[in-house]
Amino acid sequence: MDVSRGNFSSSGIIYEVPPIDLPRGFNVDNAARIRKDTGMITVAVGRINDPAQADEILSSDKADMVVIGRAQLADPEFCNKAQAGKAEGIVRCVGCNQGCYDGFVSTEIPFITCLRNPALGREIEYKLTTTEYPKKVLVAGGGIAGLEAAIILKRRGHHPIVCEASDALGGQFALAGEAPRKEEMKTAALAMGEQAIREGVDVKLGTPVTASLIAELQPDEVIIAVGSTPMELKVPGSHLPLVTNSHDVLAGKLTISGKVVVVGGGLVGLEVAEYLHDQASEITVVEMMDQVAKDLGQLRSICVMENLYASGVKTLTDAKCVEIKDNAVVIESKGQLQEYPCDSVVVAIGAKSRNFENINAFCREHHIPCHVIGDAVQARRALNAVAEANEIARAI
Ligand code: SF4
Repeated sequence: MDVSRGNFSSSGIIYEVPPIDLPRGFNVDNAARIRKDTGMITVAVGRINDPAQADEILSSDKADMVVIGRAQLADPEFCNKAQAGKAEGIVRCVGCNQGCYDGFVSTEIPFITCLRNPALGREIEYKLTTTEYPKKVLVAGGGIAGLEAAIILKRRGHHPIVCEASDALGGQFALAGEAPRKEEMKTAALAMGEQAIREGVDVKLGTPVTASLIAELQPDEVIIAVGSTPMELKVPGSHLPLVTNSHDVLAGKLTISGKVVVVGGGLVGLEVAEYLHDQASEITVVEMMDQVAKDLGQLRSICVMENLYASGVKTLTDAKCVEIKDNAVVIESKGQLQEYPCDSVVVAIGAKSRNFENINAFCREHHIPCHVIGDAVQARRALNAVAEANEIARAI
């Protein structure tokens, strides 16, 4: 008996294609109970994405068999790597749902794909070929787009050098992993950095790419994967001390308490609201559009909204922050102005590409082919950033 649950006609759909918000192995206890009570041979399934987790289910007699679905879409070599004792090299499914559900149901793409495995379903087309002309490729930025490009380049016989301005790899994806229930994303981003190093990619941390660095390294080609920075709110008072942004909050750079207003009700704004739930006495999310969570996939949206509702976070839609005062925000809604007293304001209105004109200008002047990928082109989903990185690394 395959012990699963869910349906496609209610919010129970989250159990059919479980996002990261659901605990790993969330059906296993049911399988164990049915097995014990009926004596039937049972199969455990659902968010099982690690060989050690599968081993534990079997060795603790919770099920007779483990079935692993999406984890093998993310890494078709999952079982082979596990059998060879190389579990650390498994590319983990992170329950993002971006490629295997969201894009497909929105008909944005006509087939499923995978954030972690852009070659999914197109294995022949995406088969890696060894280059006849190995090149030194400078990759500016060590987020998941830069790392994907570097790993693919290295496997093809090129010599990638990843230069990351901060002191850690993983970029925005690792930062996103600070939000509630998303630590697997952080783990995946860090594991990707470790994998790049294991495969021999030259990684330099604390090294922003400048014109003089390019002159010193003399790369044959440059990939710009410098990512994005938070957009600033341009209203009177937006530079007051009570104002901060979502990135600094998720990075744990400050402590926030009291009444908090989060400006922006997209994915990041809602996750920040959840993140602050234990610290703040009251949280209000202000969104200009008629609905919050518009940029979330359908299934993650159900989970995030359920958690927000349970935690008592208030949301205001059709509401625009027009001014920030020392202890309040001024909100315009349906032609009316209203003040909301608060102790902190967190701006989460999206991200804009980081400036890389210095790199571009140097490459232009010295005729070095230069490619821009990921959020450096335009801030969007990680699925697009990784796919672009893979594509450019196969083309060089
Ligand atoms: S798209 Fe995301 S959830 Fe779907 S298989 Fe890939 S990593 Fe897993």
